[in-house]
Amino acid sequence: MADNGTGTGLTSRPDSTRFLASDLCAILETYLEPEQIREVYRAYLFGAEAHEGQTRMTGEPYIYHPLAVARIMAEMRMDHNSIIAAILHDVIEDTGIPKERIEAEFGSEVAELVDGVSKLTHLKFESKAEAQAENFRKMMLAMTNDLRVILVKLADRLHNMRTLGVMRPDKRRRIARETLEIYAPIAQRLGMNSMRRELELLGFEAMYPCRYKVLSEAVRKASGNRREPMHRIEAAICQRMEEAGIEARIFGREKNLYSIYRKMRDKHLSFHDVFDVFAIRIVVESVDTCYRCLGIVHNLYKPVPGKFKDYIAIPKANGYQSLHTVLFGPNGIPIEVQIRTREMDRVAESGIAAHWLYKTGDQHSKSAQARAREWLKGILEMQKSAGNSVEFLEHVKADLFPDEIYVFTPQGDIMELPRGATAVDFAYAVHTDIGNSCVAAKIDRRLSPLSRPLQSGQTVEIITAPGATPNPAWLDFVVTAKARSNIRHYLKQLRAGEAVKLGRRLLDKALDIHQLKYESVPPERLEKLLEELGLPDEEALLRDIGLGNRVPALVARRLAGLEDATGKGSNLVPLAIRGTEGMVLSYAKCCHPIPGDPIIGILTRGRGMVIHREDCPNVTEVRNQPDQWLPVQWADEIQGEFPVSLRLQAQNHRGVLARLAAAIADEESNIENVAFEEKDSQTTTITITLTVRDRVHLARIMRRLRTIPEVIRLQRVRG
Ligand code: MN
Repeated sequence: MADNGTGTGLTSRPDSTRFLASDLCAILETYLEPEQIREVYRAYLFGAEAHEGQTRMTGEPYIYHPLAVARIMAEMRMDHNSIIAAILHDVIEDTGIPKERIEAEFGSEVAELVDGVSKLTHLKFESKAEAQAENFRKMMLAMTNDLRVILVKLADRLHNMRTLGVMRPDKRRRIARETLEIYAPIAQRLGMNSMRRELELLGFEAMYPCRYKVLSEAVRKASGNRREPMHRIEAAICQRMEEAGIEARIFGREKNLYSIYRKMRDKHLSFHDVFDVFAIRIVVESVDTCYRCLGIVHNLYKPVPGKFKDYIAIPKANGYQSLHTVLFGPNGIPIEVQIRTREMDRVAESGIAAHWLYKTGDQHSKSAQARAREWLKGILEMQKSAGNSVEFLEHVKADLFPDEIYVFTPQGDIMELPRGATAVDFAYAVHTDIGNSCVAAKIDRRLSPLSRPLQSGQTVEIITAPGATPNPAWLDFVVTAKARSNIRHYLKQLRAGEAVKLGRRLLDKALDIHQLKYESVPPERLEKLLEELGLPDEEALLRDIGLGNRVPALVARRLAGLEDATGKGSNLVPLAIRGTEGMVLSYAKCCHPIPGDPIIGILTRGRGMVIHREDCPNVTEVRNQPDQWLPVQWADEIQGEFPVSLRLQAQNHRGVLARLAAAIADEESNIENVAFEEKDSQTTTITITLTVRDRVHLARIMRRLRTIPEVIRLQRVRG
C-alpha cells in the first residue's frame, strides 16, 4: 500500500532475517569514509556491550533495535555522528552509562545528540485534548538544539512502530495515537514524506485495526478495476514522451490509506469521492525537461483551469519543488500529475534529511535546492560557531518553528509563552491574582529565581503568599504584555497613594508661610478651587501636587485667600526629606546627593520631586523659575544608603582594585559599579559608584582610600 515511488526514500521493511552490523556497514560504504565507518563499528561494539543481557519484547537481543534505527538513518544517508548517536540512543536511558562516558569515547557532538534523544524520551504526551498535540509537537522541536536529534527520534519511533505487534493492545493503541498525533506531523513539517507516510500507515493500522482492514480491502478491489484505465493513461503519456525523445520514469501513485481515511472522515466524503482520482508522477533528468513534459501532458489531456502550480520557480519553504497540474482524464476522471527531477524527488521524499549529507555529485542543482541547502548549511555553521544553541535555535525557528516556548503547568497542561518568558510571565498568564501574589517559583520541582527565563519542557509551579505584592524590579525581566501592564497598574496605584502623602506635606509647608493649617482652610474656598481646577476631590489635588503637576506655593496662596497667584518659592521653610517618600521622590543620578549636602527639590511633571545637589550644574537654569523648585533639607532622622561616585587615579599595580574594594568593604560600604575611564601604561582612571549613609561616612571612606599608596588622585564626581 505504501508509495511505489522512486525508491529514493525509506524502503526498508522489517525482514525475516536479522539485520547485522556488517549489513549496516555495507550501506555506509556507499557514502562514508572508511575511518568514519570504523567509528560506527566501534560504537556498535560499545552499544552491544552496554545492552548486554537486555532483550526486547520480541525476545531478541536489545542491540538489534538501535542497529535497526541506525539502518533507517543510514538509508537517509545521514552523517556518521548521527549513525553513532542512533546506535547509542538508548544507552543513557537504559544502561545507566553517563553522558560523560559517551563524550569521552565518541566526542561531545555524539554525546549531545544522545542526550537530546534521552530528554525527548522523558517527555510523555498524556493529554487527550487535540489542541494540546500541536503544542506538544512544538515543545519537542523547541527543546531540540540539533535537528538530528529529531531525526534519530523519528527513526526510533519508526522501528518501534514496525515491531509494535508484540505489545499489549492498550499499549499499542497509546503508542499508535502518539505516532499519529505527534510524530507523523513532525515528519511532515520537516518535509520527510516517506517517513510520514509509513508512520501514518502503521499508526492507522494499530489504532483502528478494523477500519484499516475494511479500507485496505476496498482499495484493493477498486485498484483492480482501475488497473486497466490507469495502464492506458500511463501508456499514452509514455508514448508521447518517446515521440518527443524524452527519457522519463512514470509512476502511477496511489493515495496513502491514512490520507484517504482522513479525507473521508474530515470532509464527509464517500470512499469513491476520495479514491476516484488518478495520480501520476513523472520524474525526468532536468528542469528544462519538466516544462517540456508539462506541455506534452497538457496537449494530451485538457488541463483543469486554475490547478497548475509551479513549485519549481517558486519552491515551498522546505525546498520542495515540483510542477503540479490536474488533467481531465478519460470519462472525466481527474488525473493529478506531478512533474519533477530526480533530485527534487529525493528532497520531496526525505525532506530535511536529503539536505544533510550532500556530496558533490549533482553539479546542475538549481537555485531552490541550493537555497534549501544553504539554509541548512547556515544553520549548521551557526551552530558550530555560536557554540551555544540559543542563536542556532533563533535562526531555525524563524524558518521552521515559531518563536515560542512551551511549558507544563503542575496539572500537565501546556502553556505557550514567548521566548525569554519568566516564571512571573507564567504566573500572570495563569491568572492575574497569581501574578500579583507570587513570591517564588519551582521549576521542575526545584526552587528557582523568578527572573530566570523558562525553557521548553519544564514544569512550572508558582508559590503565592497572601498579601504579597508585585515588585517593581519585575519590570526589568518580564516579557509578556499581560505581566507588564498588571505590574504597571499596581505600581501606579501605589504611586498615587504616595503622591497624595507627599502632596499633603508640600502643601502644609507652603501654607506655613501664610500661618495657615490645611485643616482650617475654609471648606468653601477649597471647593471653589477644586471646581476651578476641574478636580473631583481633595485627594486629586494633593496627588497632583505630589506628582509635581501643580506648584504647592500657588495652591497655598489660593487657599490663603490671596487671588494673586504669584508666589516666591524661596521664602518657604525648607521641606524635610526623610527618605521614606517612596517613588514620588527620587535622587538625581547626575550629582548623587547624600545627606549632609546642600540640596534643592526640582518638581518634575508626573514624576514628583527630584533631589539635586544645590551646586549641580543641571539645576542652574531651573533656579530662575521659582515655580519649579523648592527648598528642601535632610531630615535628622534620614535613613538609608545613598549612591555616590568617586573618580580615582591609581598606579597600575597588581591587585590595586582588590585593595580598593577591600578598603571600601571594610568601611561598611558597597560598590555598585566600577567604570574604567582611561588607562595608560602607568596609571588607570576609574569611576567607582558606592553607597554611603551621609557625608561623614563618605569622608571616612575617602580618607581611608588615600592611605593606599597606589592612589594618586581621588575626588567626588560633581554633576
Ligand atoms: Mn529506542
